[in-house]
Amino acid sequence: MNLAPLMVAGLLIFAVQAQSAVVVRDGHSDYCIVIPDKPGPEIKYAAAELQGLVAKSTGARLPIVKESENSTAPAFLLGPCCRSVQAGLIDQAAKLPEDGVLIKTLGRDIALLGQNGRGNLYSVYVFLEKYLGVRFLAIDCTIVPEIKTFALPPIDYSHAPPYMYRETLYWDSFPKEIAARQRLNGPFTKCDESVGGKIEFHPYVHSFQEIISKEEYFDSHPEYFGLQGGKRVAGGVHAQLCLTNPDVLKIAKEKVLKWIEENPNAPIFDVSQNDGNGPCECDNCMAIVNEEGSQHGPIMRFVNEIADVVAEKYPDKWVETLAYAYSTKPPAITRPRDNVIIRLCHAGCYGHGFEDCGLGANFAEYIDQWSKLTKRIFIWHYAANFAHYIAPNPNLAGLVKDLKYYVSHGVNGVMVQSDYQSPGGELAELRQYLCAQLMWDPAQDPMKLRVEFCRGYYKEAAEDVLEYLRLLDNYAEKPDYHAFGAWDPTDKINRGLVSDSLLILSRARDAAGDDVLRNRIDKLMMPFWYMQFTRQERYGLRDEDAPKVLLRVKQTIAANKITHVREGGENIKEWIAGIDAQFSELPNNVVFDLMRIGKATTENCFAWEARFVERHGKTVRSVLQHPNPIGDAIATYRIELPKIDKGTLTMQFGTVITEKTTDGVRFSVEVDDKELWSQTKTSYTLQKSSNSAQDSILPDSDAFTDHKIDLTPYAGKTIQLKLKVNALKDNSYDWANWLEPEIVIEN
Ligand SMILES: [Zn+2]
Ligand SMILES: [Zn+2]
Repeated sequence: MNLAPLMVAGLLIFAVQAQSAVVVRDGHSDYCIVIPDKPGPEIKYAAAELQGLVAKSTGARLPIVKESENSTAPAFLLGPCCRSVQAGLIDQAAKLPEDGVLIKTLGRDIALLGQNGRGNLYSVYVFLEKYLGVRFLAIDCTIVPEIKTFALPPIDYSHAPPYMYRETLYWDSFPKEIAARQRLNGPFTKCDESVGGKIEFHPYVHSFQEIISKEEYFDSHPEYFGLQGGKRVAGGVHAQLCLTNPDVLKIAKEKVLKWIEENPNAPIFDVSQNDGNGPCECDNCMAIVNEEGSQHGPIMRFVNEIADVVAEKYPDKWVETLAYAYSTKPPAITRPRDNVIIRLCHAGCYGHGFEDCGLGANFAEYIDQWSKLTKRIFIWHYAANFAHYIAPNPNLAGLVKDLKYYVSHGVNGVMVQSDYQSPGGELAELRQYLCAQLMWDPAQDPMKLRVEFCRGYYKEAAEDVLEYLRLLDNYAEKPDYHAFGAWDPTDKINRGLVSDSLLILSRARDAAGDDVLRNRIDKLMMPFWYMQFTRQERYGLRDEDAPKVLLRVKQTIAANKITHVREGGENIKEWIAGIDAQFSELPNNVVFDLMRIGKATTENCFAWEARFVERHGKTVRSVLQHPNPIGDAIATYRIELPKIDKGTLTMQFGTVITEKTTDGVRFSVEVDDKELWSQTKTSYTLQKSSNSAQDSILPDSDAFTDHKIDLTPYAGKTIQLKLKVNALKDNSYDWANWLEPEIVIEN
């Protein structure tokens, strides 16, 4: 059952009762689409969209004509046509907040216009949604109800979104066609002037490094850069500027004025801290931090000075800065200038609405405080697990709560950062639609949007998919369920959720009548297959079923061009190669391959993943076991060792740390709770994909070491073998790898 036509039928009954304008009857229409004699590009685009979608729905293709060519025929009047001007509608629309739309009946005509170019186009989409029941669900799904008679009640409608900046970083939200239809207007969209442009920021964010670059200034003026532990530190990550240095301010003012000159169309200019931490610890900067009770103190004062210069020369431009990482707390004394936008970055748990969660990192409090201080506040909201894009992430209800919270606390723009690197993100289509609709009109009922989406997108499988979503909702209500920007899903997702979801979704797939729909259901199943291949034993994937499931995983990846399982370089091939290796046949001399990481049960591991490591130009398989700050990270295998007549039973492996560890890692191997081997390693090597700065000095080549343990005394027994790593005092960048660990018979 499809909701959209039903709703349209409801409207039609109302329309006919109101004795209203009949636009199309049985495929025939007197109407045309009138555009100004000199239409902007977005009005031409809007006319084509209106013509195409009305034709698809009713069979009537309304001609598009310039207003000087149209005299008597009733019309849709797009943009600033004379008849709309005369009726005073242009002035009315211009008074709406940014991107607002106005739809009004003028006699037999219907005027569709907006506050700006985007609004002109959006008015057509809003009209199609409200009065024709069209739904722009996803890049691959627009619902257009087929109707015979298209009649309209008298209309006097206007709306402006409370969020003037609306962005959701899903891969499929970027093409301009879908972004415009879903009224997403952020800089990552490909919206050009044909669809009324977008909200541009210059630069996007983290601009300190562009204002004062390491290359240009570090050698001659180290004092421009932040002091950390007595040393000046420069770079794009974990390095900031000394914001009380007067030369830094002078250079920044000049730079921002130059940016504005060079980018006249951008409304917003960004002056914001670099990624990571590392604020300046010099006496002058620290004095302000202490005075303001916040690390944002020096930032706010610095940005205000720049904003004053901008206001004088460019009163319509905005200066944006972040409140992020170390600077989310607002300063006690200094208020942002009127032309400053604060982009506050969501911190803490996003699992179920930060307001309800003790792990919200004071976020609700900071929103309240900031929104009282500023004219414009944007939110950078996280909604994905960046370490596991594809893993289940049951936070739909939380996402909705947070979007509603923001608007009720004076927030003016939201960016929801999600799986932005690849198609195929977990529930990406539904999340994108839900975000876009709620950003446009947060008063909407999110559950109604969800149902409407599922019935349109999953058609005959909708009821099963809705049941599956309810399962996720209930799961997120568990008191111990939380979610962050990067988290280990094996900590939070239990076997029951995986098996129940797969059961319901298998039913949904059986109900699906065609390959398009079957593929959509496969995408929904991916998160649970991902869990099964991450911990085969724990999530109940039997050896004999694994090849079949792996084939479907590969087909789903290929069909949807999925390129990433986590944030970073393209990594889907690596992930698949790791799984392939786990299910390939073992060489004769290999008794057990510890690369079959799904066979292990894990405790207290920050990460436990199959990876690949470059070792002197050769690619080697590895298990990444990242320790938590406290205690041993433990992976336990139950292994039946064969009896041997001659030779030795040997466990062989290498170890390496592939990031810039601070104090090293202790590796150890235990059999039946007896430690047989250990090593404390402080040397490390950086990989091409390293997070650490590329200019770090590469340490000596003893980062890689090889080891053997004699297991001959255990031949013929079933053993509990434990791989352990310990962070010592500090677990940052403790990327501890076991290289090709296996048990072999040596002759
Ligand atoms: Zn300083
Ligand atoms: Zn929570």
